[in-house]
Amino acid sequence: MHELSIAAGIIELIESKVADPATVTKVALTASPLSGISEDALNFSFSELCKLKGYTNATLHITTVPVLMKCIHCEKEYKCLVFDTFCPDCGKPERDILSIPPFKIDYIETAEP
Ligand SMILES: [Zn+2]
Repeated sequence: MHELSIAAGIIELIESKVADPATVTKVALTASPLSGISEDALNFSFSELCKLKGYTNATLHITTVPVLMKCIHCEKEYKCLVFDTFCPDCGKPERDILSIPPFKIDYIETAEP
């Protein structure tokens, strides 16, 4: 369950930027289908760690962005939001990955208590 270590990494980063945990209201992430992250597991790990660390108002928002693929049979380029999406034209699974959006933290939102 590597989502727990990802959540721990996110919390560490917030800790380095925000002094008072209770002021954090929102953490926004970008992931792709190739990040290999279970959103449910990440949400769960994040909320459990938040309880432990005093981030009582923090919520996690995950935006999943598609990976750009190119079919090696018919050269059709297509976007893939679910990893098991195959070529929409010929249905074959073999493809090149043209671009993978990086997994990243977009922003951390805080509010004064
Ligand atoms: Zn194809």
